[in-house]
Amino acid sequence: MAPTPPHELLTPDSPLASATTIGAKTRTMLHQAGMKVVRDLLEHYPRRYEDRRHFGSFPLDETAEAVCLHGLVTDCSAKRAGYRRHVEVTVNDAQGHPLAGPIHCRWFNMPWMIKAFAVGQEIVLFGRVKEKKSQLFLDHPDYEIIEPHENRISLHMGRLVPVYPLGDGLVQKPLREAMHAVLEQLDDESVPPVLPEVAVSTTTETISHRAAAWRAIHFPATRDEAAAARRWLALEEFFALQLNVLMRRRAAGDRPGVIHAGSGALLNRWRDGLPFPLTAAQNRSIAEVHGDLAASRPMNRLLQGDVGSGKTFVALAAALLATESGHQTAIMAPTQILAEQHYIHFQKHLTPLGIRVGLRTATRKEQSTTPLLTSSDQPHIMIGTHALLFDESVFDNLGLVVIDEQHKFGVAQRARLVSHGRTPDVLVMTATPIPRTLALTLYGDLDVSVLDELPAGRGKITTAVRQGVDLNQVAAFVRQQLDKGRQAYVVYPLVDESETLAVKSATAEHKMWQGRLPGVEVGLLHGRLKPEAKEAVMTAFRSGQIRVLISTTVIEVGVDVPNATLMLVFNAERFGLAQLHQLRGRVGRGAHHSYCVLVCSDGATDGMTRLQVLERTRDGFEIAEADLRLRGPGELLGEKQSGLRGLRLGDLVADAPLIIEARALAEAVLQDDPELTMTRHQPLRALLHQPEAAAVASAN
Ligand code: ADP
Ligand code: MG
Repeated sequence: MAPTPPHELLTPDSPLASATTIGAKTRTMLHQAGMKVVRDLLEHYPRRYEDRRHFGSFPLDETAEAVCLHGLVTDCSAKRAGYRRHVEVTVNDAQGHPLAGPIHCRWFNMPWMIKAFAVGQEIVLFGRVKEKKSQLFLDHPDYEIIEPHENRISLHMGRLVPVYPLGDGLVQKPLREAMHAVLEQLDDESVPPVLPEVAVSTTTETISHRAAAWRAIHFPATRDEAAAARRWLALEEFFALQLNVLMRRRAAGDRPGVIHAGSGALLNRWRDGLPFPLTAAQNRSIAEVHGDLAASRPMNRLLQGDVGSGKTFVALAAALLATESGHQTAIMAPTQILAEQHYIHFQKHLTPLGIRVGLRTATRKEQSTTPLLTSSDQPHIMIGTHALLFDESVFDNLGLVVIDEQHKFGVAQRARLVSHGRTPDVLVMTATPIPRTLALTLYGDLDVSVLDELPAGRGKITTAVRQGVDLNQVAAFVRQQLDKGRQAYVVYPLVDESETLAVKSATAEHKMWQGRLPGVEVGLLHGRLKPEAKEAVMTAFRSGQIRVLISTTVIEVGVDVPNATLMLVFNAERFGLAQLHQLRGRVGRGAHHSYCVLVCSDGATDGMTRLQVLERTRDGFEIAEADLRLRGPGELLGEKQSGLRGLRLGDLVADAPLIIEARALAEAVLQDDPELTMTRHQPLRALLHQPEAAAVASAN
C-alpha cells in the first residue's frame, strides 16, 4: 500500500489532527474517545474479522456459534409483549436461498433503534441464531447497513473486514475508514523497530516490521496473515514487559548489599525445639534464603506457597538468621489482624531464645521485654502493617524485610521500603499461586522459592457449592460442628445494607445467627470496626471464647485458627476463585475433618458452575489458572498491576510460548547491551517505564 502522494506522511506520533484524509466529524469522534496521535488509533486492534467475501445461506435451525449473514431488510416494526417492548427487523437471505426463512432481529428496550432501519436495506449481521416456536431470532446482533455504493468491493464488503471494539462514542464504519486512511498516510520508515532481527524468522515469515504488522492486523488478506500480525504485536508487548522486568532485576542486583546471615546456630536451636519436623519444602526454602542472606548481592526472593503450606516459619527462620548476624528484620503484614497474629506467633517461638519482637500498627506500639541480646533496646524483629513504612526511627540496622501476602501490598510499597539508599534483603511471600507465565511477566525480577507441600497430619476438607439452602439445615450443621468442640466462620461479601447491591450484610446476619444459635458466643468482624475492637474479637475467637465468627473478607488473608473447621460463605458467586480458595484455607489447618460450604444466591447459576472448580480441586495453581482465564490478571492479583496495562493483545494464558520467547529475546539484547546505549537500541529506551518513580508517586 503506497502512501498517496498529495498528503503529508504520518509518523506514529503525528497528531490525528494532521491526518488530512479523515473527516472533521470522525476526527472529533476519535478525539472524544481519547485518541490523540496516530499510534493511539493504530493500537486500537480489531476484536474479530468477518469474512464478507462469501456468505453462507441463512441457517435453517439454531446455530451453536455466532454466524455472519448477509441479508435484505423486508420489514421493521416496534412491538410490545406485556411490559417488554422491542424493535423487530425482519431480514431475508440476500442470496434468496429457496429454503431459508427470514430471521427476526430484536432489540429490547431501545425504541430509538427503529430509526436505523428501512425496508430494502442491505445488511450484514453477526450473532448466534436462536429458534423459538419454529422462528429464528437474533437478539441484539452486531450489524452493519451496507450502502448501495459500498457494495461488492469496498472497505466494508467483499473482503475480510475488521470489527473493532466500540464504546466511548466510537462508531464502527467511520472508525474502520479512519484506520484505513491513516495507514494510507503512514510512513513505514518512521515506525521504529522494536523486536530484534532474530525474532523475524522465529515468529513469523510474513511479518518483518511493526508497520507491516499494523497493516496486516487491520486489513489482512487472510486470517493467517491476521494471526501472524497479532503474534508479532503481542510478542512486542511481552518483549517490552520483559525488558522492564530484567532491567529492574539488574538494577536490584547491582546495588551493593551486605551479608545478613549468621552461622545458623540459633536457627538450628529453634528447629530442634519444634514439636514437629519442618516439611522438606520448608527446609529447602530456608536453605535458599540462607544462601541469599549469606551473599553480598541483595536478596530479592519470592516465596510462593499455597494456603497453609507454612510460609510463616520460613519468614521466622530468615529473621533468626538476620538476628544472628546483628541485623534487624521488618515483617510487613497486609492487615492489622495478621500483624497481631504474627506478633503472637513470633513471640511464642522467639522470646524463649532471648529475641525481642516488636509490634507496630496504626494503633499499637509494643514490644516484648526479654533479656537483651544486644546492647541496643530496639527490637530485633519488628512486625507491623504499612505504618511501619512511615516510621524509620525503629530501625538502626535494618537487614531484612519480609513482605507477607505481597499481592495486597503492591509494587509501590516494595519500592518505597527498598529506597532511601538502603539495601536490605527482601523476601516477599505470597499465598496466591501465580501461574508461571504471570510470574515471568510480573515477578521476573525476583528469584522464586516454592512451598509445594503441605505439613503432614492435616485433616481433609470437603467442599460443597450449594444454592437455595435451607437455613435451618445450615444452622443444624453449624451446631453439629460446635458440639464437637470446633469453631466456624461465616462470611458475607459486604459490610452493610446501604451498599448498592442488595447483598446480605454481615451486620444484619450477625443478629440472625445470634438468634439461631442461642447460648453460643457469636462474634462479628468487619473492616469498619475500630482496630481495638477487631483485635478483641480475634483474640476471643483464637482463644475459643467466640465460637462462630461472622465476618467480611477481612479474614481472607493469613488468619490461622486450627480449631476452626467450618467455612460457610454466602453470596459466594461474588468472589473470585482465588479469593474463595484463600477463604477455604482458613479451615483444614488442624487434624480434624473440615468443611467449606459455598452458598450461591438464587439465580446465580453461572456463578455456581464457575465455583465448581473448587469442589474438584484444592490445588491452588489449578485454581489460579482458572481464575486468570475467567477474570483476568487484575482480579487474581487484587490490584491493577501497572505492567499489565501495556498488554492489548497479549494473553497471559494462551500466549505462554510468546512470553517465553520474549523473555529470551530480552535477555539476549541486554546481554549484548546491558545499558541499552547502542544506537540500534535507542527505540527500546522509550519502552522503559521507571517503576520506582512511578510506584512511589502512586503511593502518595
Ligand atoms: P501460610 O503458608 O498459609 O501462611 P502458616 O504459616 O500460617 O501458613 O501455617 C499454617 C499452619 O500450619 C500454622 O498453624 C502452622 O503453625 C502450621 N505449620 C506450619 N509448618 C508446619 C509443619 N512443618 N508441621 C506442622 N504444622 C506446621
Ligand atoms: Mg500466611
